[in-house]
Amino acid sequence: MGDRSYLDWPFLEDHHRVLERDLRAWAKTELAELGHEEPRDDDALNALSLRMVARLAEGGWLRYCVAAPHGGLTEKFDVRALCIIRETLAQYSGLADFCFIMQGLGSGAISLFGSDELKAEYLPGVASGERIAAFALSEPGSGSDVAAMATTAREDGDAYVIDGEKTLISNAGIAAQYVVFARTGEAPGARGLSAFVVDGDAPGFSVTERFQVIAPHPLGTLTFDGCRVAKSRMLGAPGDGFKVAMASLDVFRSTVGAAALGFARCAMDQAMERAKTRISFGKPISEFQLIQEKIADMALNIDASALLVYRSAWTKDTIGGRATREAAMAKLHATEAAQQVIDQAVQIFGGQGVIVGNVVERLYREIRALRIYEGTSEIQKLIIAGQALTEDAT
Ligand SMILES: Cc1cc2nc3c(=O)[nH]c(=O)nc-3n(C[C@H](O)[C@H](O)[C@H](O)COP(=O)(O)OP(=O)(O)OC[C@H]3O[C@@H](n4cnc5c(N)ncnc54)[C@H](O)[C@@H]3O)c2cc1C
Repeated sequence: MGDRSYLDWPFLEDHHRVLERDLRAWAKTELAELGHEEPRDDDALNALSLRMVARLAEGGWLRYCVAAPHGGLTEKFDVRALCIIRETLAQYSGLADFCFIMQGLGSGAISLFGSDELKAEYLPGVASGERIAAFALSEPGSGSDVAAMATTAREDGDAYVIDGEKTLISNAGIAAQYVVFARTGEAPGARGLSAFVVDGDAPGFSVTERFQVIAPHPLGTLTFDGCRVAKSRMLGAPGDGFKVAMASLDVFRSTVGAAALGFARCAMDQAMERAKTRISFGKPISEFQLIQEKIADMALNIDASALLVYRSAWTKDTIGGRATREAAMAKLHATEAAQQVIDQAVQIFGGQGVIVGNVVERLYREIRALRIYEGTSEIQKLIIAGQALTEDAT
């Protein structure tokens, strides 16, 4: 196990340190075999994901994904706890990390904006692992450009009727509930969107496509064809959809950085072990300065990422309000840096690094999507620059 000094940093409180210790002990035993299965097909992946969610629920970890008193531990999200959990799980299993956080992202808008009735109906099942959650924002013609969303929700009596398509949706096909964003037209662009909770068995809703991903992960396309959703299933007010989506991402975006950090720490541990034991030209390769340069870059990247991730989570937890800039910096740096760290680990392993089944080979695949989902690296740069320019103008 590598450097753990970050746990002493003032961004964290004692209960976060206890959480890390307990989760690490749990993950070592509970994820030992389950965490490294590579499913053969969609059915096997669905089954493994369901088992993973059930195991995370048994451990009590999903209680961090929803608000109290509806199955959660705290009324407000503990973003530092979410980051500790993702960072730790990612060191043992990418799928465990994914299954954990999708319960949070997929239901976060309900915790943040749901009526008491919606919270009571949907959140306890998410915390207990009985209901899988999903978040459906992206569309074939609207990924980074959320305001270009084409899916519509038309008012009809006591309901809205949703028509359109969502794609690249995590947990497609296994989710019991989807937070769905659609155009209700109160204003042009981003101000004319609303958010709804849609049940996985709602008439007019179907999963029409599944994708194979480089690191196994349930992902697919949703089609809405005259799908009626009661008005009481709206999250926030009509036209609040963009606000609902951005507030959810404001909580969960820094946790993507935390997962990347976990992958990077795992790669670093592997690379250190290899560098100290692999003999080349008569000595361990760790004695060569070109290898030491890589180790220095990896250690620096990891610490810089951890500082940004826990600064962002601390800001959200203790100062409150939006932490958009901090979350964008954390996600951008930690995911890009982790890609470099893992690539350097593969290089330190030489040919063994690209053999399927090697931990660093798996990490090389696991990390890639994190630079794309919940806002690409380019979009994070636009957010950071936009905020810097706005502040400079005031
Ligand atoms: C594994 C995985 C899981 C996902 N899960 C979900 C999910 O659960 N729910 C969900 O709603 N979505 C999900 N997504 C979708 C994800 O959020 C989108 O892929 C992402 O927002 C990018 O959108 P896009 O793929 O349409 O790319 P595009 O928006 O088409 O972007 C293509 C490229 O152009 C760049 N680009 C776009 N606009 C600009 C600009 N203005 N300036 C500079 N560069 C720009 C982008 O950075 C990117 O490099 C997931 C994606 C992946 C890969």
